[in-house]
Amino acid sequence: MPSSRPHHPPETEGERFAVIDPATGEAFDEAPDQRPDALDAVVARAHEAWRGWRADPAARATALRAAADTVEAAGADLAPLLTREQGKPLAESYAEITRTAARLRYFAELDPGPQPIVDGRPVRSEVRWRPLGPVAAIVPWNFPLQLAAAKFAPALAAGNTVVLKPSPFTPLATRLLGSVLSTALPEGVLTVVTGREPLGARLASHPGIRHVTFTGSVPTGRAVAAGAASSLARVTLELGGNDAAIVLDDVDVERIAERLFWAAFRNCGQVCMAVKRVYAPARLHPHVVEALAQRAKAAVVGAGLDPGTQLGPVNNAPQLARVERYTARALADGARAVAGGHRLDRPGYFFAPTILTDVPADSPVVTEEQFGPVLPVLAYRTVDEAVEAANSTGFGLGGSVWGTDLDRAEAVADRLECGTAWINHHAELSLAQPFAGIKDSGVGVAGGPWGLYGNLRPFVVHRPEET
Ligand code: NAD
Repeated sequence: MPSSRPHHPPETEGERFAVIDPATGEAFDEAPDQRPDALDAVVARAHEAWRGWRADPAARATALRAAADTVEAAGADLAPLLTREQGKPLAESYAEITRTAARLRYFAELDPGPQPIVDGRPVRSEVRWRPLGPVAAIVPWNFPLQLAAAKFAPALAAGNTVVLKPSPFTPLATRLLGSVLSTALPEGVLTVVTGREPLGARLASHPGIRHVTFTGSVPTGRAVAAGAASSLARVTLELGGNDAAIVLDDVDVERIAERLFWAAFRNCGQVCMAVKRVYAPARLHPHVVEALAQRAKAAVVGAGLDPGTQLGPVNNAPQLARVERYTARALADGARAVAGGHRLDRPGYFFAPTILTDVPADSPVVTEEQFGPVLPVLAYRTVDEAVEAANSTGFGLGGSVWGTDLDRAEAVADRLECGTAWINHHAELSLAQPFAGIKDSGVGVAGGPWGLYGNLRPFVVHRPEET
């Protein structure tokens, strides 16, 4: 039965590590630095809890609905903590909590009922969907709660138990979330572990884990897949992106500029599916650059807890160094910063929203994932050239096409090699749709019923009509 523990994370013995507020660059709290050998007991408990959790789908759905309510009720505790450790504006933290609860509610209603196999034979044969066992969920720092829920909601709804590991840059809101959820879920069904590496590596390769669902960078994703191979656990990998937006020559620049700007700069550009490259027709290129630069200069950059802030800091020092490195290299390659181009002269990890023009197509800011508040705008001559450039990187997460003639825009979008293509939007996702990157952007499918089945295995029962 659910416990009635209060909403604060359990005390854990042992080492702790500092958690930094990116708006100041100063440590403001600590989290337990759990060692890899602590996972044996955690995974054993997840196995134990699995017996009861998998047994009763109706009770599970009820618990997940209750869990969604507790998350929403704890919003005033969760949101400021999330902003403090992640950096995002407070309103965006609240939105993330709403999306966390929405995922629990959505998956609570999905029912993977039995599916008859109809093939003309005189047998009754059907697929019954069964859970896998303890699932490891490993999550990055850009949307700690929402991405965690995108993993644990389908895994739990399918009847699995979960061991959740947040990034060491953002462990606190997730720990609090775990504590909040423990008031609605039975003991051991969802356990949050925090710690520095090799905690994640050990979790990914733990012999008691049956599915590793990971969101993060491509190199870590490869390491996770290699680790999971040792126990032959299933892997779902949601990895990096470098999404292109192709602006067509019939576009109304003023009409789309605001939406295009925020598709690139929301969460300080730290979105796997942010617009990371804009391709504009040569004739409109100066106009597109100017419209985006105006917005970059006007955006209110500040601490996420300050009212009015639109863009917070970059989340952490290595990420800030990465953004600086890509920008400096682009400028050295001949690019011009029409807005920004430098970090801000203030404490914390602030980088000015940056619009780059005259960027060589092979500069790493175009070909790789910089994951920050920087946007190169490139000119093209033909639509074929733009499509080829959009498809030319190793990533394949999302893409978008912007124009007035929607049929023409859709025909261009259809040529993008990625998991999701939008027209006059970017990164608008429904809970009911599949989410699957191609190439280096991922393996497996999350989202919608596909996300549920990603946490289930088919079990076939074959029975003749007569003895
Ligand atoms: P990261 O790969 O450095 O870390 C992700 C998680 O893996 C963290 O919890 C980290 O502690 C853990 N980890 C680190 N080393 C590990 C190892 N050897 N084994 C197992 N776990 C390990 O990524 P990040 O910097 O936290 O996040 C940014 C990246 O995440 C970007 O590449 C971004 O595109 C990607 N991302 C992808 C999606 C998506 O849905 N495709 C969504 C958000 C972010």
